[in-house]
Amino acid sequence: MGSIHSDVVIIGGGIAGLCLSVLLQRKGIEYFLVTREMQQKVMALAETLPPSALAMIQQLGLREVFEESALEKTLGYHSLWGSSQVQDVNFYFQHPYNYGLKLDKQLLLNKLEGCLESHRSVECKDWSWEEEDRCIRVNSAEKSFDLYGQIFVDATGRKKALLRRLGIGSTVHDQQIAFSCHLPRIRHPKIKHGVFTEVFEGGWGIVSSLDQRTNVMTLYAEKGSPQGLKMREYDHWQTLLSETQILQAFLADEVWSPVFVSAANSICSNEIAGSDWLALGDAAIAFDPLSSHGITNAVYTAWQAAEAIEERLCSDSDFALGVYSEKLRKIFGAYLATRQRFHNHVV
Ligand SMILES: Cc1cc2nc3c(=O)[nH]c(=O)nc-3n(C[C@H](O)[C@H](O)[C@H](O)COP(=O)(O)OP(=O)(O)OC[C@H]3O[C@@H](n4cnc5c(N)ncnc54)[C@H](O)[C@@H]3O)c2cc1C
Repeated sequence: MGSIHSDVVIIGGGIAGLCLSVLLQRKGIEYFLVTREMQQKVMALAETLPPSALAMIQQLGLREVFEESALEKTLGYHSLWGSSQVQDVNFYFQHPYNYGLKLDKQLLLNKLEGCLESHRSVECKDWSWEEEDRCIRVNSAEKSFDLYGQIFVDATGRKKALLRRLGIGSTVHDQQIAFSCHLPRIRHPKIKHGVFTEVFEGGWGIVSSLDQRTNVMTLYAEKGSPQGLKMREYDHWQTLLSETQILQAFLADEVWSPVFVSAANSICSNEIAGSDWLALGDAAIAFDPLSSHGITNAVYTAWQAAEAIEERLCSDSDFALGVYSEKLRKIFGAYLATRQRFHNHVV
């Protein structure tokens, strides 16, 4: 069995893992990226990036890639949240960018991947963590090899694949799950922006336009709650949304996809970095999608991780990784306080 040595070994080719790879490549730091063979196509969710993230993306030289991956610019959103009046949150007065981006995530991943040198990554079905040798054993279709690094990065999102193998647990703050499906696009006279959210008893929902023909609707509830159990079947959505003022108007007789279930809870890894590893993106701290923080967090943590890794490789001290970890903990603490305020409306 062969072996590869690299300064940094990154597991997971989502936005966080790919952004970190791009940033390390620009710094001239050796990295090796391990991605997973995809068994099934992931459903497009029409995720949005708020205007506040664009300055960071510009600063990192990634704005062009993100803008080219946008389905459209978003100029605001509407919500019915703790009020009987539809709120219009308009980005017009936001500075320096007065628009957000609705992303084609798969296109964004392809474009970020296109920025990387191909010999620095491998796609594999399976890998294992070899604790004794402190290396990753990769089993790909073509070959098997051991991957050694000075720093290992968990960028596997909510799967936390490396953290689990290192025996690091997480603190789970709620049990929220998401149920998404594609529907024929219906337009509503009161909703001019392509994003609308409404809270209802035991849950909340969001509808976001994907293209001229398609809306994505996602409903959220606590796992195992009566509402959560019903959300699995699109047939129940009409009843679930029967008390909503507007959201139910976006339901259609036909549904264009199966209901796709994903975790959407707030969760923080009990340790974010150690002497030779760190976690980033959702693997480190994962937010409620209501916050629209997820993609910003993936890019921000990749940026901060790249800086910390550079310092760690130069100084051989754990200090930079410790600072990185503390920064993320503070962000998550501030987020939890805000989340509590918003979710007081979900009864
Ligand atoms: C329903 C829903 C709606 C959302 N809407 C928004 C939104 O509007 N705006 C927003 O900013 N955020 C939103 N988010 C959150 C956002 O999508 C995530 O926070 C963000 O994509 C996290 O990026 P990541 O790279 O950390 O993780 P991921 O995107 O999860 O990437 C992890 C990668 O690791 C790979 N992987 C997993 N296990 C392994 C393994 N064992 N070996 C190798 N690779 C592995 C996966 O295949 C994947 O490629 C939403 C989330 C949900 C569930």
